[in-house]
Amino acid sequence: MNIWNMGALPWLDASLLALLGLLIGSFLNVVVYRLPKMMEQQWKDEAAELAGTELPERAPFNLMLPRSRCPHCGHAIAWYENIPLLSYLALAGKCSACKAPISIRYPLVELAVAGLFFYCTWTFGANSRGLAWCAFSAMLLTLALIDWDTTLLPDDLTLPLLWLGMVAAALQWIPVSLNDALWGAVAGYLSLWLVYWGFKLATGKEGMGFGDFKLFAALGVWFGWQTLIPIILIASVIGAVIGIGLKFNSSLREGGYVPFGPFLAGAGLSALVFGPQALRQAVGL
Ligand SMILES: [Zn+2]
Repeated sequence: MNIWNMGALPWLDASLLALLGLLIGSFLNVVVYRLPKMMEQQWKDEAAELAGTELPERAPFNLMLPRSRCPHCGHAIAWYENIPLLSYLALAGKCSACKAPISIRYPLVELAVAGLFFYCTWTFGANSRGLAWCAFSAMLLTLALIDWDTTLLPDDLTLPLLWLGMVAAALQWIPVSLNDALWGAVAGYLSLWLVYWGFKLATGKEGMGFGDFKLFAALGVWFGWQTLIPIILIASVIGAVIGIGLKFNSSLREGGYVPFGPFLAGAGLSALVFGPQALRQAVGL
């Protein structure tokens, strides 16, 4: 399926998708900020329900409502202050009302999604294959940021990522057989589950969360079970290096916990950019 039949001009396709990536990146900034808060609220509501306490009346809080505000002064952000990248540049990275700095992360995430979408469309085309990889990279980036911020990997993202990979494999949008994808999911989940229980029985501590198993299972789907070993090796080495770096920097968060998800996601994005073959060669497989 060619979405607007411009396959003759790949750079134009890729640029249009990059523009779409800026918009989606802007939305993902909202998701990264709000989804963990929505989950937390839901857990509190469920706990209150179980305890039989009355739920307090609350203004709606979801991905659409309330409108974005400056976290510093509460200034409601107008649509023209919310244009990806351009608004940040026009406002020189400051709130228009109180001049508090706006995190550079917002435009960087928008740029990263634009870059990934450009790459996927350029490499795979403006078709189902390209779009599947665009969705893959956007979801991985979102998971990495949420896990980094909150040490959560929401099921609302890991499970759709896994199932989308299964569908993409079944429809041959990705070069993985349905068989390899299925065993990728099984091996990805089970291997980390075993590591988790081994570590827990040996030390009494929890080394990672169930979200890590699901994310690794999803990567096993998208790249096939054969690529799981290079992904876990690359994620572990980079995770260890950065963990040690943070320790020396004494900038580790409370409890000294470094989430694993961002490194799994990073290894997944490397497999996309460099190809699973290159990753396997890099670790000598
Ligand atoms: Zn402000």
